Amino acid sequence: MKYIGAHVSAAGGVQNAPLNADKIGATGFALFTKNQRRWSAKPLTEENIEQFKKNCRELDFPMEAVLPHDSYLINLGHPEKEKLEKSRNAFYDEMNRCEQLGIRMLNFHPGSHLNKITPEECIGRIAESVNLALERSKGVTAVIENTAGQGTNLGYRFEHLAAIIDQVEEKERVGVCIDTAHAFAGGYDLSTDQGFDQTFEEFESVVGFEYLRGMHLNDSKKELASRVDRHECLGDGLIGWKPFERIMKDDRFDGIPLVLETPEPDRWPEEIEKLNSIAE
Ligand SMILES: [Zn+2]
Ligand SMILES: [Zn+2]
Repeated sequence: MKYIGAHVSAAGGVQNAPLNADKIGATGFALFTKNQRRWSAKPLTEENIEQFKKNCRELDFPMEAVLPHDSYLINLGHPEKEKLEKSRNAFYDEMNRCEQLGIRMLNFHPGSHLNKITPEECIGRIAESVNLALERSKGVTAVIENTAGQGTNLGYRFEHLAAIIDQVEEKERVGVCIDTAHAFAGGYDLSTDQGFDQTFEEFESVVGFEYLRGMHLNDSKKELASRVDRHECLGDGLIGWKPFERIMKDDRFDGIPLVLETPEPDRWPEEIEKLNSIAE
């Protein structure tokens, strides 16, 4: 079973995300559980929580098909103590919101060293942040997303993801999400058959498919190894349609959310339908 969907709006309350996902024909989805551009958020109400669970149940979204994304403000590898603390607190809060909603995963971008500490030190801080968050929560897996490697963002090499996992104590509650556009911009050539095979062989040997908890399906506006993060509609970018077709036919991507973050929400129903017709 493939859970195919998109990162849908939760405007008006988290309970609206499953409704919005259902409208586009999705079988899985991503959402923000709070405003992603703000540090603080109102706590979830009993009503938010109950309605969210009820909508997921009634519309047939099992929790393994739901992959929330954390706030873009959070940097779990921040070189400065005070700002690291602020990020960690915001992350605990998001883990807690997931727990309240019955969601089992939280997707995050690893962090940036800002040229003030070494990449290794930054990775150590990120792993420590994950350890602290796992201690303070129950039942939610921290899912590290690979990045395009813009600026000083870490996570554009599979080795970075593996190094973080290596330092996380509770291995059952850490996973990864692979974003195809980020992988391509980070230097993994998914656009050719040979490059696709090589990328996922490398993923298997460096990280391991047992850690794969989700995928972000995006084509890329920017060139291979450009280290620039610009999503494009599937088939319209430099990755092309073929690799997405291959993902749909590959059972290594079964049972996890496959989430579109492509730039034209109006085209999501069409993109989802096209992917579904191949997966079935
Ligand atoms: Zn992504
Ligand atoms: Zn991106």
